[in-house]
Amino acid sequence: MKNETEKECGCFFCITIYSPEEINEWVPDSHGRTALCPPYCGIDSVLPDSRIKLDTDFLKGMYKLWFE
Ligand SMILES: [Zn+2]
Repeated sequence: MKNETEKECGCFFCITIYSPEEINEWVPDSHGRTALCPPYCGIDSVLPDSRIKLDTDFLKGMYKLWFE
């Protein structure tokens, strides 16, 4: 049986996609909470894989919006 923990998170600062299980720090924000990207860059620029499918092109687009 397939387990249900296949959701992914993506960090648009370091353009990395990984399992939410790797996240161990969350900070509150206006929408609820945002994950810090601990295994990689430590920036609070992590997106949950909710309705949109995360891929590196999407993350790069977000990076441009926020950091350029
Ligand atoms: Zn990161």
